[in-house]
Amino acid sequence: MLKTVGTADSDASLSSEEPPSPSSADASTKPASLVAAPATKWATQARSGQWLDWRWHMRNRIRTVAQLRERFPALDVSAGLLQAAQKFPLAITPYYASLIRQLDASDPIFRMCVPQAQELHDPGFLKDDPLEEAEDMPVPGLVHRYADRALLITTTTCSTYCRHCTRKRVAGMYESTIRAARLQQAVAYLAAHPEITDVILSGGDPLTMSTEMLERIVAAVRSVPSVQLIRIGTRTPVVLPARITGELVGMLKKYHPIWINTHFNHPAELTPEAAAACERLVDAGVPLGNQTVLLRGVNDRPEIMEQLCRGLVRLRVRPYYLFQCDLVRGIEHFRTPLSRGIEIMEYMRGRVSGLAIPTFVVDAPHGGGKIPVLPNYVVSTSPTHTVLRNFEGMLVAYPEPTAEAAASAMAAGGDSDPGVWELATGKATAIRPIKSSRLRRRVMKGLCQGGG
Ligand code: SF4
Repeated sequence: MLKTVGTADSDASLSSEEPPSPSSADASTKPASLVAAPATKWATQARSGQWLDWRWHMRNRIRTVAQLRERFPALDVSAGLLQAAQKFPLAITPYYASLIRQLDASDPIFRMCVPQAQELHDPGFLKDDPLEEAEDMPVPGLVHRYADRALLITTTTCSTYCRHCTRKRVAGMYESTIRAARLQQAVAYLAAHPEITDVILSGGDPLTMSTEMLERIVAAVRSVPSVQLIRIGTRTPVVLPARITGELVGMLKKYHPIWINTHFNHPAELTPEAAAACERLVDAGVPLGNQTVLLRGVNDRPEIMEQLCRGLVRLRVRPYYLFQCDLVRGIEHFRTPLSRGIEIMEYMRGRVSGLAIPTFVVDAPHGGGKIPVLPNYVVSTSPTHTVLRNFEGMLVAYPEPTAEAAASAMAAGGDSDPGVWELATGKATAIRPIKSSRLRRRVMKGLCQGGG
């Protein structure tokens, strides 16, 4: 039976620190357009305005199973949950915890942030670092895999530790930010490699750092003349939207072009608060992309993915990648068969605007990089024609530039009762499905125009 969310009376045990007085906070650090939320344990904060203070959320993260239990008294704390929380770090912002609706893994938010016994399942083929990032680090913390790009690990801290994190070996094992000497080393490497034009600031989550600290890093990378583009990978708009303050976007604007890739995985994360955070970034000229991880029991149904991607586009966030789960220790229970991703892509194409369709990729083990995986749209080829399949199952012959051969072949045959071979050799141009709403519309149009 599903358990609904319970509440506790006091939040005193969540933090030994006294939350700051709302009136003492700098107004420029407050995201004015955010909507204060929940009628739950943190209702007092919602009323007082602390709900809008990202530092309050950081200080009051759920960090232990005891705090989790206090926040959700009806939670069933199994021995497996306890062990998983000991093995992999736990942190959930009050904001993200407030999105939980059911206290079990059927709830997508719960599943993504509350430790589960399955994290202990450890088949032999899983690794801590299956992408071998450590092997591609010419200097500590800087991954140089593709010729023109590099990824800098700027912090090991996240406001919320995702149970499906691909960097479980790093994120939250200890919480720290990049030291000045290491940053200098990375910048020197970038300067010595002018072929790197695109630098991704990653972690951990870079937006958990103070604006001053983040600016130091952004400015250092921007000082390298050959770096054209700076990208930031962050889940902050999803798990801590109050962090997207006027102060932060004002700083980022000084260093354009800056792009941000967010990490929404489920439509339930598309809240008014998250929408306001995205709006502030986009309005500041920061293009937003989204990297979703395909997660069993969270978003592995085509309709859920459609809802997520349509919602993202409405927020002016471009669905960028859909990642197959990496072979990372502790996340096996999230992994779907590869065929599920292909099925989702098949469902989306033709049904949803191309703008809302991410590229489904496998980040190859051994550091092989991203490999796009698609349904098969090329059915056959010949020197004169390529036979393609569309989303409806219609087969069409696309004539190659060697059109003469195509034309003579066409002349040689008719268009009746064609098969794929007839398309590939130019004897027919298309095979149409009998049931197609698009073709039905054409027939209706013909009837109307014919006076029917
Ligand atoms: S925010 Fe990113 S780095 Fe942090 S735990 Fe989630 S997936 Fe990992």
